[in-house]
Amino acid sequence: MNPGEKLFARFIGRQPANAGDSSTPPNIPANGLLVFLDPQGRVLEMLGPLRHALARPHCATTPVPLLEYLTASHSLALEGMPADWEGQLLDMEFRGLDENNLHLRGWVQPWNAGWLLQLVDIGDLLQERRQLRSHEQCQQLAARMSQQLRLCSLARLSDVLHEQLQELAQHWRIPSLALALLDEHQGWKISSQYCAHDAPRLWQPEQSLGTLLDNLDGDAPLQLASAQGISPYPRLQNLFGSHEAFLVPYRDDNGTAAWLLCGNYPAHQRAPDLDDTHWLQLAAALAGPLLGRLREQQHHRHLERLEALQGLLGTGWWEFFAQSGEIQLAPQLALSLYPNGDHARLPLERWLESIHPADRQELSSRLRALQYGKPLLLCVRLHRPGSPQPAWYRLQGQAIGLGEQQRLVGFMLDISDIKNQERQADAAHARLDNLIASSPAVIYVQRYQEGALLPSFFSHSLQPLLGWTLADCERTPLAERVHPDDRELYFARNRQLLREGTVRSRYRLADTQGGYHWVLDEARLLRDDLGLPVEAVGLWLDVTDATLAAEQIRQSEERYRILVEDSPAMICRYLPDLTLTFGNRPLATYLEQLPEQLPGINLGTWMSHEQREAFVQRIGQLSVEFPVSTAEINLQLPGREHAWWVWSDRGVFDEQGQLQEIQAVGRDNTEVRRSQQQLTQSAKMATLGEMATGLAHEINQPLNVMRMAVINVLKRLNNGDAPIDYLQDKLKRIEAQVQRAARVVDHMRVFGRRSEVEQLPFDPIQAVEGTLALLGESLRGKGVELRVGPMPLQVRVRGHADQLEQVLINLLVNARDALSSHGEYQDTPPWISIQAECDASCMRLWVEDNGGGIDSRLLERVFEPFFTTKPVGIGTGLGLSVSHGIIENMGGRLSVDNGEHGARFCIELPLDNPDQITR
Ligand code: ADP
Repeated sequence: MNPGEKLFARFIGRQPANAGDSSTPPNIPANGLLVFLDPQGRVLEMLGPLRHALARPHCATTPVPLLEYLTASHSLALEGMPADWEGQLLDMEFRGLDENNLHLRGWVQPWNAGWLLQLVDIGDLLQERRQLRSHEQCQQLAARMSQQLRLCSLARLSDVLHEQLQELAQHWRIPSLALALLDEHQGWKISSQYCAHDAPRLWQPEQSLGTLLDNLDGDAPLQLASAQGISPYPRLQNLFGSHEAFLVPYRDDNGTAAWLLCGNYPAHQRAPDLDDTHWLQLAAALAGPLLGRLREQQHHRHLERLEALQGLLGTGWWEFFAQSGEIQLAPQLALSLYPNGDHARLPLERWLESIHPADRQELSSRLRALQYGKPLLLCVRLHRPGSPQPAWYRLQGQAIGLGEQQRLVGFMLDISDIKNQERQADAAHARLDNLIASSPAVIYVQRYQEGALLPSFFSHSLQPLLGWTLADCERTPLAERVHPDDRELYFARNRQLLREGTVRSRYRLADTQGGYHWVLDEARLLRDDLGLPVEAVGLWLDVTDATLAAEQIRQSEERYRILVEDSPAMICRYLPDLTLTFGNRPLATYLEQLPEQLPGINLGTWMSHEQREAFVQRIGQLSVEFPVSTAEINLQLPGREHAWWVWSDRGVFDEQGQLQEIQAVGRDNTEVRRSQQQLTQSAKMATLGEMATGLAHEINQPLNVMRMAVINVLKRLNNGDAPIDYLQDKLKRIEAQVQRAARVVDHMRVFGRRSEVEQLPFDPIQAVEGTLALLGESLRGKGVELRVGPMPLQVRVRGHADQLEQVLINLLVNARDALSSHGEYQDTPPWISIQAECDASCMRLWVEDNGGGIDSRLLERVFEPFFTTKPVGIGTGLGLSVSHGIIENMGGRLSVDNGEHGARFCIELPLDNPDQITR
């Protein structure tokens, strides 16, 4: 019990005993004060040591009223006169020296005529009380703060912290208050701060303090003097400006974890009742739960992250409880594997059931091994509900702790994607391997090393092709295996590959047999991310056969080119529209062009309209089955009359059978033609000569008639018997005979002419009639019967009418000669028969006689030139030979056999207008 309390107790107990005892003043304790008052309450006297500690009132009156000694608040509280105060316990605050007011407690009692006020200093008592209250408040505040922070939601944590800081600051009148926490990554950081509205703002929320609070003694609060004082922590001074600062640490298991920063705060002055313990308590009340909650928050986030990660990766933890034989899976994992099951724990067997049978035993055994500390790492297949394909999981596990405490934990990771990709990659790899192995080409890889390309891989096809292997390349570099003539090419290929990234070249490589293979090399350079060369990948294709074949073709082409160029024949190629694509020199010479001028020129340029039509028509008949056609064509060449070319065409067709091009070989037949013509002409002249007798007769006949008529007319004139009618009749007869002779002469003239160059359509019957006109009379005159059958009408063949006539004359003259030399005609007189027949495509003229025929041994030879059985000077042996040529020229055929009575000749001619035959 302190002195004040004792006094008070004594006062309470002793007051009645002392009452009225006014002779001796009581004893004055060391902390006591006796004040003698008059009835008005004015101080008469003071006794006791405390009186020196009182401030003297400035009052004019004496004695001084007691109220003047009291502080303003107490002077107001004390009302009335001392008599009113009797029996009360009085608390008074006296103004002390140097503002150190004194709290005194006591009572009044009558003393003589006045009053005695006995007082004892209860400052200690009050301070003790105040301190007690402060401590209590401190604890309450700490408890409240701690509770608030512990119980608030995580979302409100920062707001609540700020509220608590504010409350703390306001309660202890701290102008600037902040809580700094140690963040393991960022160092010290202001977590929350409060600043009274009239105080300077020292910190920002979330402000980083770096290492500023490191190395401070975290056992007790620190009081820093203002800037004027010498601070042991000069670095901190910046944090608090020039003010005094008070720092309270908070320690946990990890060391100093938080500081409560009080700016501009002399703590011992402002909160004298709080000692370090209280401050530590307050700091702990704030920082402890806060850190706990933050850790909780962090843990929570960590869990959330983990869960999200597990969900994303299809992964999750598992724990195996060996004793109960149960397994527990992470909730999400369990849900995805057993959507309908209970997800707490499941028996190991049940879990193993969902593992693919192929992996089940191994997993079971590995789990047992795990119990003996052998870590588990296994890829297993798991049946997934609703999916026919099992999912691949990577299972990893380890044993934590020992003995009873041992836990078997691990995680499962869905690696189906990876496994699928792995499988696809394996399949692709296998396919590629297969492809490489079965490829006829050699696939190679060349490693890039300091500018050089060194072989690092060859496919298996290398050995069968060249006989050497990759290992052999180390002894003999690749360049050495390249044909010496091709090495420059090979080095250029390397340079191009490195420069341009891709190359295609062709060179020869040696095989182990000493031979060389032509290879087509195609390579590509692969670069890394920085664009630097890594390796070249390429292939060699053996093109030896192709290269040699190409060379042979080239040589063969060259030979053919020379052959074509040097050939005396005309050789050309042209399109179906007759445009030349190529022509050799002889053709160019004929056409008076240079060979290089020929492509583009149209062959039809040198043909008449009819010739061109006939040519195109003939070309149009070429087909895949009958691609060749030969004909004698007639052209009008520059500077020449007419040219006759024997022309052979061969059509070149595409796959659809369309004519693409024509290759032609031609031979100039003009000279042959010309001599043939001359031969025909001379044969014709010979025929004419032959016919001289007949002709004489033909002309003689009208002359005789005319002579007879003239004689008769003259006779009648002499007799004077020449009537006009008679004369007219005779003159008309004479004129008719003149005309007859003129016709014969005209016909002779026409017949004697050279034939036209070009063949024209004509009526063959005209030729028969012409022949009969020439020879008919003379034959009949010789007793030869002419048997002319019915002739077809409007038939046209192509050629020259005079030439057909020449043939017929030849045949009739020969028949006549045969008849006359035969000489035996008892029963049947000599006759010559001319018959005609016609079918859809050709007409035939038969000339037969009954002259005995041709010796069968000679039948074959009668068409030979100069073959004759007639006496020298009579027969020329040209008649039938030229006739044969003429008919052949017309596209027809002249043939002979022996009939019943004599020779039978047949002229067969193709029709020019086969569709328009009228009999
Ligand atoms: P040439 O009349 O000048 O002898 P040809 O070529 O016209 O020449 O005839 C050749 C030969 O064919 C004749 O010499 C003759 O022997 C034979 N010949 C031709 N026509 C007849 C015919 N009608 N009957 C028998 N022999 C014939």
